Amino acid sequence: MKQLLFLISLLVSTLGFSQIQIDWIEVYEDQADGKINLYAHNSGHCPVSIMMSFPTLENLKVSKGLPVEMVIPNDGEEYLIVSLVPINKQANSNYLFDFKYNLGDVFNTVHNDDYAYTLPFEKGKRSVIGQGYNGRFSHHNLLALDFDLKSGTEVLAAREGTVIAVKEDSDKGCKTHKCKGLANYVLIYHDEDGTFASYVHLQKDGAKVKAGDKVSAGQVIGYSGNTGWSSGPHLHFEVYTPEFNTRKSVRTKFRVGDKVDYLEERKPYTSK
Ligand SMILES: [Zn+2]
Repeated sequence: MKQLLFLISLLVSTLGFSQIQIDWIEVYEDQADGKINLYAHNSGHCPVSIMMSFPTLENLKVSKGLPVEMVIPNDGEEYLIVSLVPINKQANSNYLFDFKYNLGDVFNTVHNDDYAYTLPFEKGKRSVIGQGYNGRFSHHNLLALDFDLKSGTEVLAAREGTVIAVKEDSDKGCKTHKCKGLANYVLIYHDEDGTFASYVHLQKDGAKVKAGDKVSAGQVIGYSGNTGWSSGPHLHFEVYTPEFNTRKSVRTKFRVGDKVDYLEERKPYTSK
């Protein structure tokens, strides 16, 4: 008989600007043939990586090397994480487990550096990169781009993917990191290579998409604003590969006119 052990409250604090709380992963215990089998099910919109260890393990042998590291796809199936086999069948056994988890596949994700991203703002508008890669205001060791944009400008998906999370309930922003958690954003998973893109500082109620939506490149996903830790109205755009407890941001090429290249701080770009 399968027994639900718990729903993991997936608290992803690795976005830099905010936290996401998502309940996607369920862990089941199933006792069969004298074994304890632990299964996971992912009801979310992208794969989730898990790392499981056992701080308490009494009279039980684990079927795999520890910690168990694996990816739970979001295809509706249940996946066997591990089997626990009693050493002495007559004695009592007991276990406790610990989990680490993050959105995406932390083991195998490699960004497609050849992908040509679409400028993520309204067609016909021009924007200056107010802060570029490793910028001095808030991009220390961060490969992110800040597009200066008047609040209310359309924000476009730079690449096709699946919407993972949306926050749009904040109407506050300020110039210090105290406002970090107050940024509205849309987080998109790129199904092609498993990377993520975040679109940050959107205005209040400024999202036009919801979690689970499929979006195409150039589709309007929301409206820019100045929420969160921000020195003025702009769109923070960042693409990253997921890692446990952190993320690794990457440089992305954009299609600008008939050229495909990286963007530079202080330079203006026009969306066509
Ligand atoms: Zn930024």
